[in-house]
Amino acid sequence: MPATPAWPPNSLPRLFVDTELAESDEIAIDAAQANYLVRVLRMKAGAQVKLFDDRTGEWLAELTHIGKRDAVLTVEGQLREREEVPDLWLAFAPIKKARLGWMVEKACELGVRRLIPVRTERTIMGGIKPAKLRAHLIEAAEQCERTALPELAEMTSLDTLLSDWPKQRALFYAAERGGGSFRKALVENDGPAGILVGPEGGFTEEEDAAIRAVEQTAPVSLGPRILRADTAAAAAVSLWMAGRGDWN
Ligand code: SAH
Repeated sequence: MPATPAWPPNSLPRLFVDTELAESDEIAIDAAQANYLVRVLRMKAGAQVKLFDDRTGEWLAELTHIGKRDAVLTVEGQLREREEVPDLWLAFAPIKKARLGWMVEKACELGVRRLIPVRTERTIMGGIKPAKLRAHLIEAAEQCERTALPELAEMTSLDTLLSDWPKQRALFYAAERGGGSFRKALVENDGPAGILVGPEGGFTEEEDAAIRAVEQTAPVSLGPRILRADTAAAAAVSLWMAGRGDWN
C-alpha cells in the first residue's frame, strides 16, 4: 500500500517496487500505486517520485505515462545506496490484528532487520497473514525512508526458534518477571542480537524455563509495569537501537 498523502510533508512520494532498478528503466506500476499518484496526489506526467527496490537502493523517477489504470515511471538516477540495517531481529508471538499491525510498523520504523512470528502455548491468534504483514512493512518503509525492507520470516514454533538460534547472536528475552538490567545486557552483548517478546498471556513456566536454558539468552526487564506485547516490543527495540544500533 502506498504511503498516506499527508506524510511526509513537502517531500516526493516514495514507492517500493519489487523489481531491480537501474537508470533509464521504465517501470509499470500497479493499479493501486498508479491510483495513489494520479488520483490521490493528482500528479501529472513529468512529476517526480522516489522509488526503492530493497536491492539497489533509492532512485529518482519521472512519471512518463498515465494510463486508465496503470502508469509508467522512468528511472532517472540513483539517490542512495541500499542501507546496512542494524543486525537486530524481533521474534514475537502473533497478537490481535490491530496491535500486530502497529507492532510490525514500529519495528520497521525503529530499524529492525528481521521479524520472526513465533507460535507459543498461549498464542491466541491462530496464525498471521504474511501478505498483510508484508504490506504493512512496505507502507512503513515507504514512509520512514528505509531503503531496505525488514525480512519477514516464516512462522515458527518456540522450540524451533530456540534450537535454531544462532550461536553468535544474543537473545534479549523480554521477561516481565526476573529480568535483569537491559543496560547491563547491552554491555555484555555487543554483537548481533534478537529480541523475544511473548503473547498477551505471556509465556508458560515451561516456556520461560526453556528460553532461559538457551546459552545466548539474556533475560531483560522493561520496568516494573506489565506492558502489552506491542509496547514491550517497541520499548525493547528502542533500547537496543540506542545502545547498539544506528541511533548514535
Ligand atoms: N504474562 C503477563 C502478560 C504478558 S505481557 C500476564 O498475563 O500477566 C506480553 C509480553 O510482553 C511478555 O511475554 C513479555 O515478553 C513482555 N513484557 C511485558 N511487560 C514486560 C516487562 N515489564 N519487562 C519485560 N518484558 C515485558
